[in-house]
Amino acid sequence: MNIHEYQGKAVLKGFGVAIQNGIVADTPEKAVEAAKELQKQTGTGWWVIKSQIHAGGRGKGKIAGTEQRGVALAKSLDDVKTISTNILGKNLITLQTGEKGRKVNKVFIAEDVYYPGESPTKEFYMSVLLDRSKGHNTIMYSTEGGMDIETVAHNTPHLIFKEEIDPKVGLRDFQCRKIAFNLGLSGEAYKGMVKFVAALYKAYEVTDSSMFEINPVLKTSDNKIIAVDAKVTLDNNSLFRHPDLAEMRDITEEDPTEVEAGQHNLNYVKLDGNVGCMVNGAGLAMATMDIIKLSGGEPANFLDVGGTANAARVEQAFRIILKDPKVKAILVNIFGGIVRCDRVAQGIVDAYKNIGNINVPIIIRLQGTNAIEAKKIIDESGLKVFSAITLQEAADLVNKAVK
Ligand code: GDP
Ligand code: MN
Repeated sequence: MNIHEYQGKAVLKGFGVAIQNGIVADTPEKAVEAAKELQKQTGTGWWVIKSQIHAGGRGKGKIAGTEQRGVALAKSLDDVKTISTNILGKNLITLQTGEKGRKVNKVFIAEDVYYPGESPTKEFYMSVLLDRSKGHNTIMYSTEGGMDIETVAHNTPHLIFKEEIDPKVGLRDFQCRKIAFNLGLSGEAYKGMVKFVAALYKAYEVTDSSMFEINPVLKTSDNKIIAVDAKVTLDNNSLFRHPDLAEMRDITEEDPTEVEAGQHNLNYVKLDGNVGCMVNGAGLAMATMDIIKLSGGEPANFLDVGGTANAARVEQAFRIILKDPKVKAILVNIFGGIVRCDRVAQGIVDAYKNIGNINVPIIIRLQGTNAIEAKKIIDESGLKVFSAITLQEAADLVNKAVK
């Protein structure tokens, strides 16, 4: 689960990670109030207005149809009002949002931390994540902060460092010092970075997160080290241990069909293609998506109905797949291991009749216990459904259907 920057920063601050402070607002008026309040708290004279959406690249992104950037500096309260008005309720398009963009419901009014001072500011990159191949948490960091890390990885891979953490002993002090040293820091900034890394890692561990990405981590002109951005991804499987974090979920950022599927305990991921698929088991679902591609179609979704593919679940799954207007055909691929295929077939026929006016062809492959009986039920149903026994047959039927 992703959370917004303002929420991520609040979490980090709770663990003693120094951050760029700010106050969230959902109207231009509240944004101005937030700016005044922040000035009282931090003494800041300028503010940064930051669009809160679950996507990066906001600084370079623009509000649809305008030149307004998703992150912008305000040098007066009038600026705060104008920029917030430009942003709130509009769609922000960034490299990560797709061309439609994402609607901005909230802005984070942050203190300006790029103020001039005795030494130049410097942006770093830092993330904490699990390296699955090694089974170790890893801190990835770079002197090249502020820009797209994929670009850094492509052009200057030697400027990205990795520090692996041994789960038996946790993050050691010398590792924090090594990171600060590799980032070329000294004096106050060096000490600040050592503290920053230790607190950041602690936050990552205690919150059971699956990824933190802080880009940029800033060395201010007076040598403080602070998180200017915070991309926090929590592990869904651990949310039951963190009810306070679970509450930070913003379903307006999620695909509405995926949210509905989740409420019915269906594992559904919306994709861009034209062939809907309904499968039991994640592995078989992946294989089915491959088959769809091989047959010349594009999967419209990933959908795992789970082990108990009963009539009610099958019906719900059909309803969810059919919400997508792009779907031209549906491939049902169910392996009857625990469930009996004839039961599933009957469930499909019943669901089909219950839903009514299904206008796309449905190709059904039922394999396993009582597969022959199942095929008979489908073939004799008189509905616009086609049964297949082998995957090849199914693929050929999909191919015909999308054409
Ligand atoms: P992202 O573009 O979605 O990754 O959003 P960030 O939070 O990283 O902000 C984008 C950019 O805004 C940063 O890389 C900075 O260059 C700029 N920015 C953020 N905070 C400040 C600030 O306090 N003052 C100024 N002048 N620029 C800022
Ligand atoms: Mn960023």
